[in-house]
Parts: sequence; structure tokens; C-alpha cells
Amino acid sequence: MGKFIDLTGKEFGRLKVIKRAENDKYGHSMWWCQCDCLGEDSLKIFKGDNLIRCVSKSCGCWRKDNARILFKKYNTYDLSSKFGIGYTSNTNIMFYFDLDDYSLIKNYCWFEDKDGYIVTHDDIRISMHRLVTSCPDDMEVDHEFHNRYDNRKEFLRIVTRSQNCMNMSLKSNNTSGVTGVCFSKSNEKWYAYIDKEGERINLGYYDNFNIAVKIRRQAEIEYFGEYRYMGEQLSSEKKLS
Ligand SMILES: [Zn+2]
Repeated sequence: MGKFIDLTGKEFGRLKVIKRAENDKYGHSMWWCQCDCLGEDSLKIFKGDNLIRCVSKSCGCWRKDNARILFKKYNTYDLSSKFGIGYTSNTNIMFYFDLDDYSLIKNYCWFEDKDGYIVTHDDIRISMHRLVTSCPDDMEVDHEFHNRYDNRKEFLRIVTRSQNCMNMSLKSNNTSGVTGVCFSKSNEKWYAYIDKEGERINLGYYDNFNIAVKIRRQAEIEYFGEYRYMGEQLSSEKKLS
């Protein structure tokens, strides 16, 4: 054991020695240290030798912070257009945003969640469409054309929950790829329907899928007004080809 050195007031990495603690059972000098982070466990006892040899240099936060920096991926952006283009960190999918939101979104790492929304984690989950619209907690954001990658404000509307339900996207039990149109196995026709306030309205059975879709679209305009869902045209065309 080397000769005793008073470490009081000395700093080692993020640690500042506050006062001496009781020696450990081997007679090593031990010290109460305060970590810079001022976290919950930031006041701890460290062995003097470890402080001097720089083995101990934080309460543990140093390692955590380094891990965070190493694993925190950022998005790549293209700001050369009239609107911003970013790429998700996990799927490398393009997403769009208003250039004036860039300063708001650039400090987060955005990824695509399992439902296709552009989200980030910053202690809590934040979705881009809520962030850029400053959506209140009790309201929802509707993507006008159901393109969840497009978070430009002109295509986002803050709506109530029930308004958003009217504009609901594809349901998991849907077989045609278009909401409100499914294939009826019993009579081998396309069945068009619409749900309004919990009630299912039968729009008829059709041999031709496109006609069933058209009928459903007309019903959306009639029943839902401006909150109808307009974004499915592409996906239904894709299914047919
Ligand atoms: Zn610390």
C-alpha cells in the first residue's frame, strides 16, 4: 500500500472528491465523490487508487453517455427541394417535411414504426406528425392522403378522434386492399359497405371490383364529407395489377 494521499477537493474525470470515507476491509483509503451529472447515484464511495489510476472517473454515467453517442444514429437529409426529405434510420424510407420544421426535427433520430409512422424516442415516443403540428394530447392528426411518410403541414389536419375514425385506414381483416370493399366468398362478388357511427351500411354486391370501389367512394363523399379517405386509389391499383 502506498503512502496516504489526501484527495479531498481533487477531481478525477467527472468525479470530485468530497470527503474521506471509511477504509475498506483491506485498509485501502476510500472517498466520497460527487459526479458532475448530479444524478440519483452521483454521490458514491470510490477507492482512492482507482481514482488516481483513472479507473473510476464517473458514477457510471460516462459509459452510458458514450454508449448513447455510439448507438444514436441520425437521419440523412436533403434540403435542396422546396420541402425537406429525410431517410428513416431503420428502413431508409423517404419522409417529407416542411423546411421550416427542420430545426425542430433535426435533433431526433427518426425511424419507421411497425404501422409506418415516422417516430422517435426521447424518453417518450414522439411522432413527427404530432410534433410538427403541435397537436394537443386529446386530439389526433389525420394524414390527408394516408401517406404517413408525408409530414408536411399542408397535408396534416388536427381532428377529433371520431373524425379520424371516419378516415380510418385499411383494416387487418380486409381482403381487397380497399377499405369498405371485400370479396364475399358465399356469392363470389365484391361486397361494398360503409361504417357510419357503428352501423354497417350495405352498398351492394358487384362482379366488378372497380365498380364496388367506385360505389364505396361515392358513399364516402356522401357520408363523410371532407373527411373521406382519398389516398387508397394507388394501393387499389397496385393490387389489381
Ligand atoms: Zn455521473
